[in-house]
Amino acid sequence: MVTDCLFCRIVAGELPCNEVLSTPNTLAFRDINPAMPTHVLVIPKIHVPDAAQLGGEHGPMLAEMLRTAHQVAEQEDLAERGYRLVFNVGADSGNTIGHLHLHVLGGRAMGWPPG
Ligand code: 5GP
Ligand code: ZN
Repeated sequence: MVTDCLFCRIVAGELPCNEVLSTPNTLAFRDINPAMPTHVLVIPKIHVPDAAQLGGEHGPMLAEMLRTAHQVAEQEDLAERGYRLVFNVGADSGNTIGHLHLHVLGGRAMGWPPG
């Protein structure tokens, strides 16, 4: 755990979240400022700064994050109509939180490319 990391503190139970799903190595909770009708963040329970810092040793954890995202989509009734998964990396992407998180977005049709 990184003590000054917001998402590590959520994992540790020090800060509240609106939990959607918890698995052995991942946690899914609602984004505090949703960009879409459904906006859930899937995070690893260990601290990884961002997707650029992932190594081969993170493979099983990353697969679990993707499975959790799909389970969230099923729970939220997005699986059939479709949804978007996003990892923001670096300043131009708008990344603000330095703990890896996968955005699960859905609930309305989305354009491509994003603005
Ligand atoms: P980023 O832009 O870094 O990819 O996404 C960070 C996301 O975390 C944003 O969508 C933002 O609304 C969300 N967020 C920031 N602080 C909190 C918080 O304290 N709780 C929750 N649930 N979401 C947060
Ligand atoms: Zn962290």
